[in-house]
Amino acid sequence: MKITIIGTGYVGLVTGTCLAETGNDVICVDNNVEKVASMQNGIIPFYEPGLESMFKRNIEQGRLTFTSDLAHGVNESLIIFLALPTPPAEDGSADLSYVIKVSEGIGVCMNDYKIIVNKSTVPVGTTELVRKTIRKYTDTEFDVVSNPEFLREGVAINDFMKPNRIVVGTRSEYAKKVFRELYEPYMRQSDKMIVMDERSAEITKYAANAFLAAKISFMNEISGICEKLGANIEDVRKGIGTDDRIGKQFLYAGIGYGGSCFPKDVLALNKIASDNDCEHEMVESIIKINQAQRKKFVNRIKSFFRGDLAGKTITLWGLSFKPETDDIREAPSIYIIDELSAAGARVVGYDPVAGPFIKSMFGDRVSIADDQYEALTDADALILVTEWSCFRNPNFDTIAGKLKSKVIFDGRNQYDLIKMSELGFNYFSVGRRSVV
Ligand code: NAD
Repeated sequence: MKITIIGTGYVGLVTGTCLAETGNDVICVDNNVEKVASMQNGIIPFYEPGLESMFKRNIEQGRLTFTSDLAHGVNESLIIFLALPTPPAEDGSADLSYVIKVSEGIGVCMNDYKIIVNKSTVPVGTTELVRKTIRKYTDTEFDVVSNPEFLREGVAINDFMKPNRIVVGTRSEYAKKVFRELYEPYMRQSDKMIVMDERSAEITKYAANAFLAAKISFMNEISGICEKLGANIEDVRKGIGTDDRIGKQFLYAGIGYGGSCFPKDVLALNKIASDNDCEHEMVESIIKINQAQRKKFVNRIKSFFRGDLAGKTITLWGLSFKPETDDIREAPSIYIIDELSAAGARVVGYDPVAGPFIKSMFGDRVSIADDQYEALTDADALILVTEWSCFRNPNFDTIAGKLKSKVIFDGRNQYDLIKMSELGFNYFSVGRRSVV
């Protein structure tokens, strides 16, 4: 099949590459000309495990091409995916300006029947809005389909190639048929496609992300209760996660969720509900608890130093919003760096891939080390922010030797309480009392 993807970010490029991998001819369109030029030279624009080799292979085999010419992309293909940003506007709603602008462009240049597929996370009614926007500029027939994306950064290739489900929102019988054919290679073991009306498909994405965020906020709330009452959230997590009705995933207490999806999608759902006079107390609480959790974490650090961080050096291990990605959008590290540097601390960070992005955001307010241990030199405390596997079982003797005082704030509950006590660390984690 001939497919065009508009927007070559985490979703667009993974989608394009994985569709090329199964034999389709894929054109990726992006309005960032420098990004297009470097992709044309085989340079991948971001870190995603497993993507680079697949990307290079499909370029070499001529199935994956790049352009900034929207008209070329639109007119060469039957299926046109929109994988465009929908960042939060000031009022919390999803900013649809990218989607609308590209829809106008498609309407202007479309010369034949097309299926336009929205993969961006968008409010209910956007499929209809895209349809109306394109219609303003053309009499040509077309369908607009909602096909929300559920891939997770860090394991995006696996998620695309072996999806749990594929949600397709459309009324068009022809589009349904084309989608079955398009996604058939990814559903060989069972039919994963769930076809519904477009409004339900649009809200399914928000409901999924809000539900996952709710699990995190719930566990964070329980972690506060555990701390106060001397219980251990990690034991509680195992105790409840073994119940099949609850499930093991997303039960980790920590510094709160971040990333390019959960914060903006829960905010957008909150706005959708409030604009439409719907009850949304749970959605509001998810946001409130998440903000309180990271604040509580930073306050603990501040109160350890009796509110005086001036002249202190604090090291952060992990800067990306989660392991195995270089994405720092809404990463907890940003809030922590902001707060600590505003309080006068010197902040040093280390991350396997995300260091340069944090550096360009904070400039002189942060130093980025090339090595996790070098980052600790003369530091007054270590904060574990992102649970990359290189931080799971570190050399604690080296840590103790490098730190000025043996203080660790663990935002991800990575270390054993008894071991930390035996090693003589002042160790603070989430929802667990330190053993002294
Ligand atoms: P991104 O910011 O990584 O990528 C967006 C791309 O679109 C960029 O390369 C940008 O240059 C390009 N772009 C912007 N305007 C354009 C235009 N006018 N023409 C052509 N290209 C243009 O975004 P992302 O993380 O891939 O997310 C895209 C959408 O998918 C969002 O709605 C997001 O909520 C949703 N989503 C993201 C994830 C994720 O894990 N990142 C998962 C599921 C859904």
